[in-house]
This record gives sequence, C-alpha cells and structure tokens, in this order.
Amino acid sequence: MPAPYVVALDPGHGGSPSSDPTVLWDPGVVAGRLIEKDITLDLAFRLKALLEKERVKVVMTRTTDRYLEISERWNLVHAAKARLFISLHVNAFDGDPSINGLTVFYPRAESQAFAQHLEAGLAAALQRFGVPDDGVAPKPELWVHSDIPTATVEPAFVSNPHEAALLTHADFRDAIAGGLYQGLLLADPQIDATYQQMLRVEQVRAARLQAEQAAAAAGAARIRRWELGGLVVAALLLVMIGLRARRRSVRARRRSGRRGRRRPYAARDGHVRPPVRDLSEVKK
Ligand SMILES: [Zn+2]
Repeated sequence: MPAPYVVALDPGHGGSPSSDPTVLWDPGVVAGRLIEKDITLDLAFRLKALLEKERVKVVMTRTTDRYLEISERWNLVHAAKARLFISLHVNAFDGDPSINGLTVFYPRAESQAFAQHLEAGLAAALQRFGVPDDGVAPKPELWVHSDIPTATVEPAFVSNPHEAALLTHADFRDAIAGGLYQGLLLADPQIDATYQQMLRVEQVRAARLQAEQAAAAAGAARIRRWELGGLVVAALLLVMIGLRARRRSVRARRRSGRRGRRRPYAARDGHVRPPVRDLSEVKK
C-alpha cells in the first residue's frame, strides 16, 4: 500500500481564559457571537472530513480549544512530515465594515503557486455567495521556518455584515472547505494519484482474496464429495454384508427345517422314508 499523502491543517488562534493567569489564550477576532478560534477549528474539521474521503492523512495542530505558540504549531506540522500546510483564519478590518472578500497569504515565493491554487478553489466555491476574490499576497513574517508549500487562508471578513452572516451558515462553511479541498487537489496531483494507487492495491487485494476464498470453497466441496462417496461405499458395503448374512441364515433355516420334518417319519415308522410329496401318496 502506498504511504498516505499528509496534509497539515492549522486552526488559527485558540484557548479560553481560565483561573490560571499563566495559561495563555487567544480568541482571534471577535464579532458578536462569531469568534475566530471557533470558526477556524470548525473549518478545519470540515476540510479534514473531505480530505479523509480522498484517503489523505490529515494532521491538525489543534483539535480542541487550546492555545498554541506558532513555533509549537510548526513543530507539529514538521514532525508529521506534511507535504502541504494550510493555516485557517478569518479576516477583520476595524473601522470599515465594507471591506470584504477572500485572501490567501503565502510566506515566500516557493509557496505562491500553492496559494494561487487555494485562491482559485475558494473563489470558484464562494462566488455564488457574493464573496469577491482579493487574490493572493506575500506575508513573509508568517511561517518563517516553513519548507513545504504553506498558505494562510482568510476566506471572509467577520467585520463585514454580509460575510459575517454567511459565516453563521453551515453551507457557507462547507463551501469554504470544499473550495480549499479543490484547491489542494489542483495544487498537487499526487494527492489524487496516491488515492487511485490505494484503490488499485485494494482492488488487487480484494480480487486475490476472492480467488482464495473461491479456491477454498472448491476444495471444501471436493472434500464433501469424497466424504459423500465414502458414505455411499460404506452404505453399499453394509447392504452387501446384510444381504449375505440374510442369505446365510435363510439357507441355515432351510437346512434345519428339512431335518426337523424328517425326524417324525423316522420315529413313527422305524425307517427313513422320503417326505410325502402329495395327498394321493398318503392315501395308499
Ligand atoms: Zn487570525
């Protein structure tokens, strides 16, 4: 089986205030009931589900509401040997709610094409929701240690009323995940190639298993036929033995019967006479 393709997803921000003041927390942007750290985690799970259907191994930097330093996040991605990396966020712009649209940032030129594929996937998926495409932009201060295609995705603005309203809907969040999924498939054809390879290996395995099962079933049937044949032979032998025994006992009875009929004549007449054949003989 080919090794699974590994994609790392980073739900941005995370953590809640607790009684322990030394424990850090970071909600990201907060707009009414919309909190960035919760949206990013939800988006990551939606994208993870789509990728797992494609047999991609998805590594998440966090799966719960917890605080993580950027360096901790990168260490997890690196340790997982991920081949592509997406950090999920939502955008906000203080003071101007009209600012809207999707953007994908990349740390260095090596990741630009990856960012463009994600942008293309997102733009196609979010067009019907009226989310404009603001394109890709370099942000070299993000993910400075990254050595794989890396992108920070900002699919919408929580500070824009239209996009904030959209973000409360599951179908919009699914569209974001779907757009990123399409972008990932575009970014590296190896994702789908690995999936197809896995399917082929499974088909071969299934066919081999089926052939083995069929051979085992045929073998079992052959044994059953032999057993049945043996039973028939045994039954025939028993019948033959029974018949011979009966024949012998009939012969024996016949012999003893003859002797039995002879004795009365011998006793009455004092000499042996042949047995009486018919009534006319008796009358004489
Ligand atoms: Zn953010």
